[in-house]
Amino acid sequence: MAELPELVILTGQMDQELQSKEFQDGELRQEKSLNLPSNEFIREIRGKKVIKVYNKGKWIFIQLSSDYYLLLNLGMGADILFHEPGSESPEEYQCYFQFTDGSSFSCKFWWIGRAELLQGQELSKHKATKDIAISPLDDEFTPKYFRKLCQARSQIKNLILNQRKIGGIGNVYIHDILFRARIHPQTVANTIESVNVDNLHDIIQENLKNAIQLGGLAYEKDFYGRNNGFNREHFLVAYKEGEPCPECGGTIEKIKTGSTSSYICPHCQQL
Ligand SMILES: [Zn+2]
Repeated sequence: MAELPELVILTGQMDQELQSKEFQDGELRQEKSLNLPSNEFIREIRGKKVIKVYNKGKWIFIQLSSDYYLLLNLGMGADILFHEPGSESPEEYQCYFQFTDGSSFSCKFWWIGRAELLQGQELSKHKATKDIAISPLDDEFTPKYFRKLCQARSQIKNLILNQRKIGGIGNVYIHDILFRARIHPQTVANTIESVNVDNLHDIIQENLKNAIQLGGLAYEKDFYGRNNGFNREHFLVAYKEGEPCPECGGTIEKIKTGSTSSYICPHCQQL
């Protein structure tokens, strides 16, 4: 599932490639993923130009002319792929958008996704995105901001995964983040010493920046259909149940933490 690094990479490529392109047509095959009937959706988007593409949490925002926004949510994962003019159109997709220059892009959701067309004034009332918090790579994600969040009495893992508190981290990168910080995922946030909170803040940013440098998760495709470079070798404890801890040599365990699983070294990350 795409997390912040993959979305930052994808939206960066989309922004560069799609700017100023004008929507000409499209095909939307999955009505339940849309906020408008498909024919109305296509009629509305026709003639609008792409101004900017960026992400907010796990949503892709495509800002259009006339103060419209095309919002995409990848759900459990999706391939969002660019197609050069004249290239064969893909077979499998739920959404397909064509531009006046003959180029296009398609979205194939792995499970279920969303495509919504909204006016600018509707954004502030859009339930799914209006409360998404700042991302760890935003300037506002300061040590002070994070210290304040960590005054909560919730478990640290749940806190970092809560999209209303921090946008964009899911159950992939979190394992190594907490391992590097030597914090057990079920530690109550407000019991962590402030020096360790500051350290965790820095590790969150470093970890995500490093993943962006490596091109994001290897099993996710970028806008050009290329697989990214962050593969199994780059993880420290994540998905390495039964293997030795890179720090102490102890055995990495997979444990249940509420509704999610966690990979930890029980020696390095004590509760
Ligand atoms: Zn260890």
